[in-house]
Amino acid sequence: MHARFYNEAIFKFSLRPQTPMLIKAGRSGEEALDPILPDMSFVRTSRPDRNEPEVYVPGASLRGVVRSHAEKLLRSIRDNLACDPTQTKEEGRLGKACFAGASNTEKLDGPQAYVKSCYACRLFGNTVLAGRARVGDLYLDPSRAPLMERRYGVAIDRVTGAVAQGPFELEILTDARFAGQLSVRNFTLGQLGLLAAALLDMGDGLVPMGYGKSRGLGRVALTFDELSVRTLRDPAGALLGVGALAGAEDSKAYALPHPDRERQPIGVQAGRERGFYVLRAGDATAKQWLELVAGHWVEEVGG
Ligand SMILES: [Zn+2]
Repeated sequence: MHARFYNEAIFKFSLRPQTPMLIKAGRSGEEALDPILPDMSFVRTSRPDRNEPEVYVPGASLRGVVRSHAEKLLRSIRDNLACDPTQTKEEGRLGKACFAGASNTEKLDGPQAYVKSCYACRLFGNTVLAGRARVGDLYLDPSRAPLMERRYGVAIDRVTGAVAQGPFELEILTDARFAGQLSVRNFTLGQLGLLAAALLDMGDGLVPMGYGKSRGLGRVALTFDELSVRTLRDPAGALLGVGALAGAEDSKAYALPHPDRERQPIGVQAGRERGFYVLRAGDATAKQWLELVAGHWVEEVGG
């Protein structure tokens, strides 16, 4: 990650389950022994302004789903654009999180760790590199009570056809609306585009999350409420990646792409907020901008 700030994009969105969803809580301590709770319950959190713990979508869960979909998109162009933690260096890929087996990772400085990481790790991070994308926890829309159901499930032994496990009780969420935020700092247009592509696919219900994905659970719809892009320099009505904003030294050290600017003008001038230039788009326009940048990653990886 660059020490300096060049740009930041913040997506605000709402997530609604389209099919029943279960993001499992980790059971520990007393909770694990409580006979009232279902065997698999939806993850909950306590918030300072609420009396009871309530269901939520941990940012890490969404981040994992977005990352793995982005990796799938990258590998559809070239295998080595996303390292595979299950493969070792000897098997011809990049190895675990790009750096498995490397004994001298502590000698890598920031730019070297960045340049030597795969495209996925540059965006989402690995053991020696902080990622550029961050996903906050998603909380319930307070104006709409979530609908929960209890269902029973069994695991079937594939060979004998007999019940291998169960019946167990599942706590399923059938309706709710969560508000979330994803941000990416010092992004190239390709990186912003890859996130946009993954989020747009998710919004189309193509990327399920949580338990039982293969059985049709966890399909979600995303609506983009707002997209804002902050820079220190006036973007003059264009979407600019870090390659267009960084000086010669950082450009060289991080091997940044050029010109790293969206050719199509977005027809909006930046406002000034607390010293930053801010381009802001509401729902329909936000989705338009995402569609506009979504193709940049293919260009950037030379696909
Ligand atoms: Zn990697």
